[in-house]
Amino acid sequence: MNKNIAVIRGDGIGPEIVEQALCVLDRVAELYGHTFTYTDVDMGGCAIDKWGDPLPEEMLQKCLASDSVLLGAVGGNKWNSVPGHLRPEKGLLRLRAGMGVYSNNRPAKIWPQLASASPLKSDIVEKGIDFIIVRELIGGIYFGEHKTETKDAQQVATDILTYSEKEIERIGRIGFETAQKRSGRLCSVEKSNVLDSSRLWKAVMHRLAEEYPDVELTDMLVDNCAMQIVKNPAQFDVIVTENMFGDILSDEASIITGSIGMIPSSSLGSSSCGLYEPIHGSAPDIAGTDAANPIGTILSAAMMLRFSFDMSAEAECIENAVSALLDKGYRTADIMPSDPAEAEKCKKIGCKECGSLITSLLKKA
Ligand code: NAD
Repeated sequence: MNKNIAVIRGDGIGPEIVEQALCVLDRVAELYGHTFTYTDVDMGGCAIDKWGDPLPEEMLQKCLASDSVLLGAVGGNKWNSVPGHLRPEKGLLRLRAGMGVYSNNRPAKIWPQLASASPLKSDIVEKGIDFIIVRELIGGIYFGEHKTETKDAQQVATDILTYSEKEIERIGRIGFETAQKRSGRLCSVEKSNVLDSSRLWKAVMHRLAEEYPDVELTDMLVDNCAMQIVKNPAQFDVIVTENMFGDILSDEASIITGSIGMIPSSSLGSSSCGLYEPIHGSAPDIAGTDAANPIGTILSAAMMLRFSFDMSAEAECIENAVSALLDKGYRTADIMPSDPAEAEKCKKIGCKECGSLITSLLKKA
């Protein structure tokens, strides 16, 4: 199969981790007889420096013309003082909206080899952590009106949170369908004790539930959910929630599995052209030091193969290679055990070595 992938290296550790994912993809193509071609796309701080715009229209068009998009990360201190509409993250929001990818899927699964890297107590980890957060991605407060004005001699800032029934229903359906493919339990997370948008969210979810009698729907307030994720994560199978709540909860869910550097994500809309990216940011604190963990990006590439290109065997081949790497005791700095006795059994590696070891461990099933 021939596939064209739009590649956004971005800022900070972005170029380092994407490079490793491309090495893995090239080897998969060789093993399975595919051709992957890559179209470079500038987005984020590097696009501001080059084009004065975090996502020039021409770059968005390159993504829309591709079979799918692989993204590293964008942003960094250098661009913190630019006006809001020119921030690197605006490029990302514009890309998601332009591609119409309304459903963001973030798995929170602990690799057994990394159980000791979880900050949770071992009795909680032993019960298992394996759930998915389905997050609405192109609505809500991140896409509402933002303004800062002067009133009564002081600055007043406003951000508007809006959801329509249609927007809630389409993400709700993804939640129910994801639960149907797993254990049939869906937890809808909102703040219906305070927000109108959450009351509408809850009503739509319950209306949809009548169409999915095989799925058990529960409701949870977002503040309680933040607590439950650390207290008893084994209770969750699929969580469906709005944009900002999903953003925050999925970072929390990632850290209990060991490291934010391990978690991939997929974002899909109504076509098979998806956006695949690790859930972390550009990590400016470790950029250029070869300390970044590329596994979240490599697993994002695996998700692309599975969900957009219908290449499940190829995706599994990547996941098996990651598992083999962990079995052999190789660890990037972020997943090194804190216990010195455990750490002694592991070998610390950098980003490049991690990518080349995974590439060398790829085996056609
Ligand atoms: P971050 O995710 O970049 O970093 C948080 C912490 O996790 C840091 O200590 C970092 O070193 C560590 N970390 C992150 N990814 C890692 C990896 N692959 N391997 C090892 N350690 C890793 O979050 P932040 O510091 O809040 O944000 C930094 C910049 O990234 C900001 O400009 C922010 O706006 C941007 N950002 C971008 C995206 C995106 O591109 N999708 C997402 C979140 C934040």
